[in-house]
Amino acid sequence: MKKVRLATVWLDGCSGCHMSLLDMDEAILAVAKKVDVVYGPLVDAQEFPKAVDVTLVEGAVSSQDDLEKIRTIRLRSKLVVALGDCAVTGNVPAMRNPLLTRKMLERIYIDGVQQTPGVPHEGVPALLRMAVPVHEVVKVDLEVPGCPPPAKSILFVLSELLEGRMPDLSSKVKFG
Ligand code: SF4
Repeated sequence: MKKVRLATVWLDGCSGCHMSLLDMDEAILAVAKKVDVVYGPLVDAQEFPKAVDVTLVEGAVSSQDDLEKIRTIRLRSKLVVALGDCAVTGNVPAMRNPLLTRKMLERIYIDGVQQTPGVPHEGVPALLRMAVPVHEVVKVDLEVPGCPPPAKSILFVLSELLEGRMPDLSSKVKFG
C-alpha cells in the first residue's frame, strides 16, 4: 500500500503542538506504518519536498521566513492542516500585534539591557508587522484548535485523513 507523505512544520509556535503529536504514545506506531514523514523538526531534510499529501502546520505566520515557507508548503501540499490555536487564530504570537514592532524590539533588546544592547538584525528573519493565522495567508483545508490540541484529537485527525476522510471535529476540539 502506498504510504501517505506527511510533513509537519513549526512556524511561530512553542513546539507544544508537536509535543502533543508525539504524545500519542503507542498509537503513533500504527500511524507510522501508514506514513512517510518527509519533512519536520525530527527529519533531516533542509528543503520542503514536493508532492506532500498532508502537512500539519504549528504556529502563526510571524516573519518573512514564515511567509515564504507557508507559501511553498501550500504549493507543494495537497492538504494543509492548521494545528493548534497559534496556527488557527494567531493566539500567543499575535499578542504583539497592538504594539509597534520597532518599539517592542527596543523594549526587549535595548531598554534596561546592561550588556551589548541592540536589536539583532543578522541571521534572524525580519518580523512581519503582525503575526497572523495561517488561513490569512494561504488556503487551509482543516483547522484543529487547542493549545495544544490533545493527542487523541490529533490521532483522530490523522486516522481520518489516512482513511481518505475529512474529519468532523465539531465535538472533538476546543480553543485553549
Ligand atoms: S497552540 Fe499553544 S501549544 Fe501550540 S504552538 Fe501555540 S502556544 Fe504552543
